[in-house]
Amino acid sequence: MVSKEKEVLLCSDLDRTILPNGLQAESPEARQILRRISQKEELTLIYVSGRSEPLLKKAIAEYDLPVPDLAIGDVGTTIYEPDGGWSPWSDWMEEIAPDWQGKTWKDLAEMFSDIDGIRLQEPEKQNTYKLSYYADPSADHRPLVMEVEQRLKERAIRASVIWSIDETENIGLLDILPQRATKLHAIRFAMKKLGFSETRTVFAGDSGNDLKALTSGLQAVLVKNATDHVRKEALAILTQRGIPKDRLYFAQGNFLGMNGNYSAGVLEGLAHFLPETRQWTKKLAEPLRQ
Ligand SMILES: [Mg+2]
Repeated sequence: MVSKEKEVLLCSDLDRTILPNGLQAESPEARQILRRISQKEELTLIYVSGRSEPLLKKAIAEYDLPVPDLAIGDVGTTIYEPDGGWSPWSDWMEEIAPDWQGKTWKDLAEMFSDIDGIRLQEPEKQNTYKLSYYADPSADHRPLVMEVEQRLKERAIRASVIWSIDETENIGLLDILPQRATKLHAIRFAMKKLGFSETRTVFAGDSGNDLKALTSGLQAVLVKNATDHVRKEALAILTQRGIPKDRLYFAQGNFLGMNGNYSAGVLEGLAHFLPETRQWTKKLAEPLRQ
């Protein structure tokens, strides 16, 4: 395996981490610097997102983002290789498929067709190993989750059943995923396959669904536009797990005059853990400021 000791792996969430689609302002040059830094041969870039393939592509086009080396999508259930025509990594599928006994979302959906109060999401939101439903956001979701879990258990299917509410659309979401198909596990799987050690890897995120990776002991950065609630929760989990606090960096702002939100926070965190990238950022930022 090629030694990656001089190279850098940046794994980052998209929405409100690299994408400035939150309430706070974005530093004007931040995304452009990130785009340039990603062109360096020494840097490998992985997006880690809940987005499906069409929505990943949409984000890249809409925000003029660099095309990553890999994209972990569909809440961790798929690892895409954009260069290879966005084909999914088959060995990641093989890693998570045993949890579902080789069954796909279509097979599993048959088990729940008689349950009232849930309806299948659109086909583009389903994936081989991701089964997703809509539900009434005001309904008590606990009996529903229990019923789904019970049926899965009876068939020896190891799955995570995740309830959340899409507040912008005001709709309940029920996702059924293979137990091992987490964003964190997908990151570690990609690190191993690409030959990156923990000391050369940095993860960036902003919210609750990044907490597992942010508090895993990997070098991680929480961008400044994160809420205080997420900051507190992250610290509490680190304490609880006995993970050194210096594994998680809170972006402060003032890195090369940028505000620490979104891409600026990602670059700041990267420079914090891997100081050589500070010089890269500085050098790439100069022509943008003349
Ligand atoms: Mg996010």
